[in-house]
Amino acid sequence: MHQGAQDYLIRHQLNSHALARAVRYSLERHRAQAQVVYQAQYDQLTGLANRSVFFDRLNFALARCNRTQTAIALLFLDLDHFKKINDTCGHEHGDMMLKTIGHRLRQSIREIDTGARMGGDEFAILLEHIASVDDVKTVAQRILEHIARPIAVNGRQLAVTGSLGITIYPWDCANAQELLKHSDSAMYRAKAQGGNRYQFYIAGLQTGSIDVELQRALANDELCLYYQPQLDLQTNTIIGMEALLRWQHPLQGLVGPMHFIPRAEENGLIIPIGERVLAMAARQAKLWRQTDGTVPPVAVNLSVHQIQEPSFPATLKRVLEAVNLPAQALQLELTERHLFQETNAVLDTLRTVKAMGCSLYIDDFGTGYSSLRYLRAFPIDGIKLDQSLLHRVPDHVNDATMLRAVIALGKTLGLHVIAEGVARQDQVDFLHEHGCDAIQGFWLSSPVPAGETPRWFSGDRDCALCG
Ligand code: C2E
Ligand code: MG
Ligand code: MG
Repeated sequence: MHQGAQDYLIRHQLNSHALARAVRYSLERHRAQAQVVYQAQYDQLTGLANRSVFFDRLNFALARCNRTQTAIALLFLDLDHFKKINDTCGHEHGDMMLKTIGHRLRQSIREIDTGARMGGDEFAILLEHIASVDDVKTVAQRILEHIARPIAVNGRQLAVTGSLGITIYPWDCANAQELLKHSDSAMYRAKAQGGNRYQFYIAGLQTGSIDVELQRALANDELCLYYQPQLDLQTNTIIGMEALLRWQHPLQGLVGPMHFIPRAEENGLIIPIGERVLAMAARQAKLWRQTDGTVPPVAVNLSVHQIQEPSFPATLKRVLEAVNLPAQALQLELTERHLFQETNAVLDTLRTVKAMGCSLYIDDFGTGYSSLRYLRAFPIDGIKLDQSLLHRVPDHVNDATMLRAVIALGKTLGLHVIAEGVARQDQVDFLHEHGCDAIQGFWLSSPVPAGETPRWFSGDRDCALCG
């Protein structure tokens, strides 16, 4: 070959190698740079924006709002009881769920909106150019519904719900940090009401996160018990008093248990709160015994978290001994809805408690899943029929038939049957006619402070019954 041609080929080949190398190098560098940019902006797991991008976009959106006189909404989402899923199913499955939820979140909002993962199971959503609060409600509802759909993880169907707190700028606050803080506290209010819901921030209502507030409530003795009597339909006597927890909040007044117990169950405060309730109920039962002679038992509601603690029987014993009260003076209620989490350890605890002398009732009977199984498996003395079974009785024929059957079931199994939420005379007549043992409800009395109840024990029952 001609020397020139050889030189040409060698040079050319070398050059083409060099060129290819250069191109490859450039592509790799580009990819790596893109990767770095991506990692800096997006959450690895869900592909949503990350925290820092979210704040950038939020600040831009706020500036745009001020310029164009429009409004934006910030939604803060936290999954309910997600820790439990992580603990029981493992982090890998937890991650798979988070990934699906991220995907569903993106599908629930418009292109111009931003969904971000703020860390753990917390997400933030920025809705721009909102036209009305109703629009925001629609999106919030859609997000909650999408999240709650079951997720297939390794052949199992898992489900999780979310709680959303919503703040609107410029109506509710002045800057990005405040916006997030208010959404966060509104989210806790949604959780405190049982989760799977949204709450708008309401100025002035929130004085700190509910966790801190509950800690303070315990420290400052803001928790107290109201009592609601139970009437035996055969003998027309008071046969029990249910202790119902109230929070005397310094700003909001009397707060009912459904507003804070679900949150206390989530953050663990239910354990000290539950112990406080037991102690207050035991002290009151003792006082009544001392002032009124023999007094019917006081019923105390227990959270399943309390009986999951192996130390529960010891706690109960300590509480009883502190005021020298026999265990028979306390009747313990467990909500049926919670019993599906029952384990052998829980069953053992219930047996121990029963052996100590406390009676056991299943509360809200008729609202849960496999009621019949509990009736056999648990060492119980009675059931409390949920008020929902009673609403349309006696007018609604099917409901009446059902209620009759449930009473008969309880009686056949030798259980004491108490109907809850009895509010009308026709319900009392129906329950009496069909063999229900006892009733509790507004018809007889709403829950009242302990100081307003002793008259029921001193033979002055007519007064209570007509009042
Ligand atoms: P529950 O144990 O089923 O208590 C009955 C609830 O029905 C009470 O609500 C009571 O005020 C209400 N009620 C009574 N009579 C009537 C009526 O005629 N009509 C209607 N519509 N309602 C009536 P409350 O006090 O708000 O308690 C709600 C739930 O909170 C309780 O349901 C119980 O599950 C839970 N709870 C209450 N105190 C405690 C506690 O100390 N610890 C735990 N873990 N849970 C508690
Ligand atoms: Mg109860
Ligand atoms: Mg109940």
